[in-house]
Amino acid sequence: MAEAGPAPRVLAGALLVTQDDRRRVLRGDLRIESGRLTHVGPDAPREGAEVVDAHRFAAVPGFVNLHGHVAMGLLRGIADDRELAGFLETLFAVDAHRTESDVGAGARLGIAEMLLAGTTTFLDLYYFEDAVARAVEELGIRGYLGWAVLDADKTTQRGVPLDNAREFVRRWKGHRRVVPLVAPQGVYVCGPETWLGARALAEAEGTLCHFHLSETRREVHEHEATTGRRPAVWLDEIGFLGPRMVAAHTVWLTGDEIARLGRHRLGIAHCASSNLKLASGGIAPVVELRAAGAVVGLGTDSVASNNSLSMLREMHLAGLVQKNQRWDAAVLSAQELLDLATREGARALGAEAEIGSLEVGKRADLSLVRLDHPTLVPARPEAIVSHLAYAAAEEAIDSVYVDGVPVVEGRRLRTGDWPQIRAEAESAAEPLWQSRPVRAPR
Ligand SMILES: [Zn+2]
Repeated sequence: MAEAGPAPRVLAGALLVTQDDRRRVLRGDLRIESGRLTHVGPDAPREGAEVVDAHRFAAVPGFVNLHGHVAMGLLRGIADDRELAGFLETLFAVDAHRTESDVGAGARLGIAEMLLAGTTTFLDLYYFEDAVARAVEELGIRGYLGWAVLDADKTTQRGVPLDNAREFVRRWKGHRRVVPLVAPQGVYVCGPETWLGARALAEAEGTLCHFHLSETRREVHEHEATTGRRPAVWLDEIGFLGPRMVAAHTVWLTGDEIARLGRHRLGIAHCASSNLKLASGGIAPVVELRAAGAVVGLGTDSVASNNSLSMLREMHLAGLVQKNQRWDAAVLSAQELLDLATREGARALGAEAEIGSLEVGKRADLSLVRLDHPTLVPARPEAIVSHLAYAAAEEAIDSVYVDGVPVVEGRRLRTGDWPQIRAEAESAAEPLWQSRPVRAPR
């Protein structure tokens, strides 16, 4: 049966940044029918379609944000200028006061921010994910939502986290734009039973696993002191690592660990902004991970540690940091950065047949980016990928489509009422900010 959706639409005459296998950039049309692309290139059939003149725009695949905690939108700026341990101290204290309702308000804020910045798919790790899932359905983004799992004695969740995750996955499986999954938080709050329980649940339900890994030296050293193994080695040895997994951060890895993650074809969410702001001190070995077989994408992490959900900013910073740190300007080219933000992120989610590039048969998840915005001039086809990776401002993103539905048009959110989303976020933020432990400045 055909999926119900808006009337067919042709975006005519755009500069198509296809991100297909040949990375073609060409002038042409996109025809969208029932949420999918049915024509990519010159001379799309126009029968029965609403034709939109898109010659002033580049059409770019929607960005895939491979790691975040969207509901933390309310906590932007709440714990700045501290390293991870001090940051988490504040965050855990505030976390204890969170309600399902304020998680919903934070999620709507974060989703609005992402859609307006061209992100059409995101991977999330949090609890009260039902509220996030409802926000995803309401605002029209695509959400891969991981229910956070940790040892029962370390959580503020009601009930047993693994049971909560199982129930969440069963409630939301089969929804069109909500993909539920299980998300063990990290080695510092998960013992072996939790890791293996999460893996067994993911296998039984056919979902992904998403988790934090080797973000700081302290995490690695403390884990090594208690178990005798570095985190990635330990996860491999206890039998956790396997297919359909995405690890966030992976800043502190040995060559042996890189090889293990590569062997399991792990997805990796590289979070350059978050790592730099929390002074993690290193950079993820993106080049070596990719060479070893891991599938690397980019993640913003939350706005408490970034403090933006912009994938444009993330591409820019990820590229500069790798080049500078490695004394090699050729490393992570503009094309590779755009790959990480689109098709590689999709591949890490196992969704490369559906999203990540503009190709016939795929979901129509894309942005129209103004070619007359100052940050995209000169708008030459041979420079468009460079502009997107290094220069483009969020304000250049005019329209965003998810599943063929225009969720942003003329820089206005179409699927939600922004003044209301903002007002709800402000009032939901109030008690959380009141509850934060205030520390004397150092
Ligand atoms: Zn995170």
